[in-house]
Amino acid sequence: MDCALFVSHYVSALHPALPLPGRANGRVPRRKWPLWIAACGLFVALAPSAARANERPPDAARVERQDPLSLARWGPIADTIFSHPELALAETKSAEVLARELEKEGFSVVRGVAGMKTGWVATAGHGAPVVGVLAEYDALPGLSQKPGIARKEAVLTGAAGHGCGHNLLGTAAVAAAIAANRERSRRGLAGTIQVFGTPAEEQIIGKTFMVRDGLFRGTDVVLAWHPEETTYVYTRPRLAVTVIDVEFMGTTAHAAASPWLGRSALSALELFDHAVALMREHILPTARLHRVIKAGGVAANVIPDYTKVQYFVRDETGTRVRSMLDRLRKAADGAALASETRSKVTVRAATREPLYNEVLSRVLQTELDKVGAPAWDAADHELARAIQKEVGVPAQGLSPAVLPLSPGHGATASSDVGETSAVVPLAELAVATRPLGTPAHHWAQTAAAGHAMGKKGMMVAAKTLAGALSVLLSSPDVVRRARAEFAGSTAGSPYQSPLASDATPESW
Ligand SMILES: [Zn+2]
Repeated sequence: MDCALFVSHYVSALHPALPLPGRANGRVPRRKWPLWIAACGLFVALAPSAARANERPPDAARVERQDPLSLARWGPIADTIFSHPELALAETKSAEVLARELEKEGFSVVRGVAGMKTGWVATAGHGAPVVGVLAEYDALPGLSQKPGIARKEAVLTGAAGHGCGHNLLGTAAVAAAIAANRERSRRGLAGTIQVFGTPAEEQIIGKTFMVRDGLFRGTDVVLAWHPEETTYVYTRPRLAVTVIDVEFMGTTAHAAASPWLGRSALSALELFDHAVALMREHILPTARLHRVIKAGGVAANVIPDYTKVQYFVRDETGTRVRSMLDRLRKAADGAALASETRSKVTVRAATREPLYNEVLSRVLQTELDKVGAPAWDAADHELARAIQKEVGVPAQGLSPAVLPLSPGHGATASSDVGETSAVVPLAELAVATRPLGTPAHHWAQTAAAGHAMGKKGMMVAAKTLAGALSVLLSSPDVVRRARAEFAGSTAGSPYQSPLASDATPESW
């Protein structure tokens, strides 16, 4: 009766005062065996659930008591991600911090989706409707910045920083999902909440791979938000973008002793860049062409045989971007011909312009109007004006109001949110998290994203998204109308990924 002895020790350990049947000198009399067999069965049946209870995070009860939408809970999470800025596809800690918050609240999280270690999908609830929210958490290179100060000063020179406020973005999305899920449980609503942990937004690849791999296939509608300088629901313009690498291969030689033997890849790159500069006179005012030289040669006395420039090609629609790409390919061919080198153009990333769903946008606007703009205080305005002075824009402080729903709301940047909107109805919110007139991808946004002003905007986003998710969960007819609108908008244009079938996030 090893089991009986084990159970008796186990029960004694738990309840030393508990009288145990017929045990003497560590042996159980034969007539008591049936009783012990029953006890063993009960133990085996209960042990797994006891173990599961022990697996609950030690602070689970405390978490359950917390207000799911309090700054006290989410401010430190945003600060943790801010203090550990991680670049695209390397957001290990940031992704995990957010995934664990969801697990504490009963979400199941599938990690490592779409070939990205830092991508995940979290799910709670069951059945229809299935409502989703997008979370981002990657930082930008070289934008390290001390928070809450009005001058450019890195925490660590050259390091990454949250110059797009994604420490706020991911945190608010997770907070909103948790609050909506509690509401769903409290009201006993059917339906599923999904949170998509989407890495590498700054490289415009995370959601594009997640779409290609079908991760949104079972999702009815999706909401998103982004830190901005004013507060509104996006109605455009976010731009379509394609990212290309243009490489030139030449012939090296000593730059003084035998330059006639060489053919400079740097000359080819300069010719190409000049052609594109002249082309800017003949493109639409809505287009954007910008670049960095990734490889420009290594020594002035060695003719460079390899150079590389990366271009972002943007316009209001993917169609216009594709037409500009054709012109850039001709310029690369021409530069190679003139310099007697070879050229290679590789598409690195792409997203189309977003398709904003009007039904969902109205739901977001209604909730945003209820929550209102962030409640700035005098210290926020003072810091904002100091940053504006330093950046060289009018010292207007912070945006005080929510803009009404109307066409044209949105910054002329791009996001792979656009690619998601091609496969699932989507609406997106912008909330002020930085001083008016100051740019994103800039130390000013980093300084604000680690300061109270950023977190005030973050909580407005969290509350608005939570409200909208709850409305959608409890209103299947609204979800149906959103899907009907989406079906009409995309009729006749089935989704086609811009990715090659064998592309992987690392190779992209
Ligand atoms: Zn961003």
